[in-house]
Amino acid sequence: MLFVSPAFEARVTKDSLVFSAAHFITLGGGVCERLHGHNWRVDVVIAGDLDENHYVFDFLAIRDAAERIVQELDHHMLLPDRHPDIRVQTDDQASEVTVRFHDRRWVFPQDDCRILPVANTTAERLAEWIAGRLIDALELTGHPQVAELKVGVEENFGQWAWYRRRPAADARSSETKRG
Ligand SMILES: [Zn+2]
Repeated sequence: MLFVSPAFEARVTKDSLVFSAAHFITLGGGVCERLHGHNWRVDVVIAGDLDENHYVFDFLAIRDAAERIVQELDHHMLLPDRHPDIRVQTDDQASEVTVRFHDRRWVFPQDDCRILPVANTTAERLAEWIAGRLIDALELTGHPQVAELKVGVEENFGQWAWYRRRPAADARSSETKRG
């Protein structure tokens, strides 16, 4: 299918879209980073046509939805639930999360953790996860003027990862699957 780039974009990035959180990722060859933190910054772009209000999307709605997601992550330990080698176990009775990678082990208070459905807590995977949450929160599949959502996550000064998705194409493909 031919996809023509939309002419308009609405972009929201603010100091309220910064969150402080800890993580560690694994690299190839069985290398596991030491636990460390970042002040992550989130940038949201919605591209598309103009609706009856002559905008692509309401800035405040984008801001509020993104802020809620960012606040869920702020001051937490970010852990991957789908990593092939990092095992994350929650002990509800002790309210603890035990994390293992080969012979290394970490134990965190459960309330301090955000266990995310990602394979590695890279900026790319965080951007993808945030994008999915924004599509749901803003009901983007129900807005035909929206062509594309882009989410950027800055993990360190000048180090951005971007994820982009076309919500309407998602809606079409899920209809095809259902049909
Ligand atoms: Zn890091």
